[in-house]
Amino acid sequence: MLTAKVERYKNLIAGEWTSATGKKAFQSINPANKEEVVGEFQASTEEDVNKAIHSAAAAFPGWANTAPSKKAAILNKAADLLDEQVEKLADELTREEGKPIGASRKEVLRSAQTLRYYAVEGQSFTGETFPQDDPNMKVSTELEPLGVVTVITPWNFPISIPARKIAPALITGNTVVFKPSSETPLIAYRLVEALHKAGLPDGVLNFITGSSKDIGDSLVAHPDVKAVTFTGSTGAGEHIHRNVSLETRTQMELGGKNPIIVMDDADIDLAAKLTVNGGYSLTGQACTGTSRVIVMKEMKEKFLETLVEKTKALKIGDGFEQGVTICPLASEKQLNNVLKYIEIGKEEGAKLVYGGEHLNDGEFAKGFYVQPTIFTDVTPKMKIAQEEIFGPVISIIEVENYQEAISVANGVKYGLAASIVTNDLKTAQQFTKDIKAGTVKVNRTTTGNLINAPFGGLKKSSTSTFRESGRAGLQFFTQIKTVYVGY
Ligand code: NAD
Repeated sequence: MLTAKVERYKNLIAGEWTSATGKKAFQSINPANKEEVVGEFQASTEEDVNKAIHSAAAAFPGWANTAPSKKAAILNKAADLLDEQVEKLADELTREEGKPIGASRKEVLRSAQTLRYYAVEGQSFTGETFPQDDPNMKVSTELEPLGVVTVITPWNFPISIPARKIAPALITGNTVVFKPSSETPLIAYRLVEALHKAGLPDGVLNFITGSSKDIGDSLVAHPDVKAVTFTGSTGAGEHIHRNVSLETRTQMELGGKNPIIVMDDADIDLAAKLTVNGGYSLTGQACTGTSRVIVMKEMKEKFLETLVEKTKALKIGDGFEQGVTICPLASEKQLNNVLKYIEIGKEEGAKLVYGGEHLNDGEFAKGFYVQPTIFTDVTPKMKIAQEEIFGPVISIIEVENYQEAISVANGVKYGLAASIVTNDLKTAQQFTKDIKAGTVKVNRTTTGNLINAPFGGLKKSSTSTFRESGRAGLQFFTQIKTVYVGY
């Protein structure tokens, strides 16, 4: 039998595509078919990391002093390259991560849009001038780049999250060392390739793949790294946060346990639709995904009936199939984690009313599939109501009134996104004040955020410092210098 040759992709260090010093590689595989290897990538070592950081440090003075219009032109050119290759890139993204091809296409286009957004926004991002009493003095702030920035990203939005970190870092004059998730290095490679082809000077953007065990600490603890922007699990974020020096700025976008509250005046069909879209899109693997439904007691039966009906209608399959919503989980590790929580839910005494099965025969035999799953009779202290599952598992918690709903919604360590379904303006307004979350919605899904609006969480969902996205996303990458000039 003939087997297709698997391509081995290299790191980008100092403008050169290079192999890791240890000459070892790891594989990225298709979660819909674990026998298909999507590509091989460099298993880098600390020595490679040090070379990448050194190259970024050497490139920094030149890039920091490059004209903003030139930096913007490179981002725009890279955006054009992504747009031109959207079909190829979407195909690779689905093959590597598993999401529906339509979602992959949107993600690639959103990444191009993000580069263009920062090309414009970054050119008018500037300091302030302050009124004061001395007529012979001017007081103003300069916004200066930080230096070398390490970018570390997860697999669930494997091109759009890197784009929303790398674009603001570059336009403000920083240089970058970027490590993608080992589950999805190919689509990350494509973003770097586009920026490299668009004309970034050597060393301005360095790309390095490998396991966090081998290179995680050296990527963040090196003295030349002035900032770390990280998206991933809360556990890893806390580890990194503890590991960096006092002089290194961090931005951590972490886990969530996002609630939707269904009030007694809610449109049941809308509430069920928002739960399905928020809970099952990306097969439940969105950081802002809906994982808890907090429903008023009198609405529960009707809501549950509608939710089960809509869940049953979802098509499960390979991301390339037309009309699929539930695709494979992104990796075997992810699958095992979700199955583990389904067992925990049963043991804790929650009632499994739909799904919960590992699908592993027929068309599903080679992939990491699980049915969309609904638990009822969930109490707020159960593990399935407290811990991030990151899969298509929805827990329904009944409450008596709004106050109890808020107390349950806020009774977790996370605070990323939250929503309420109501037609009552007063309740909606009150909710936006009472809920402890960084992204708050009314009659919309917990998922989804704009490129031009700030994004981030509260509590253990983010560091409480800088937001991503929008103009706020630029602030993280600059430091303020206050200048007093007497004349
Ligand atoms: P993860 O924490 O396992 O890995 C994320 C990235 O960090 C990967 O590139 C990984 O290799 C690297 N990493 C892990 N440990 C490290 C260490 N000690 N030092 C340096 N790098 C390290 O997370 P994941 O499984 O890739 O992603 C899923 C998680 O990401 C979920 O918890 C989800 O909620 C979160 N997430 C958050 C947001 C957000 O914006 N808040 C967005 C997407 C995903």
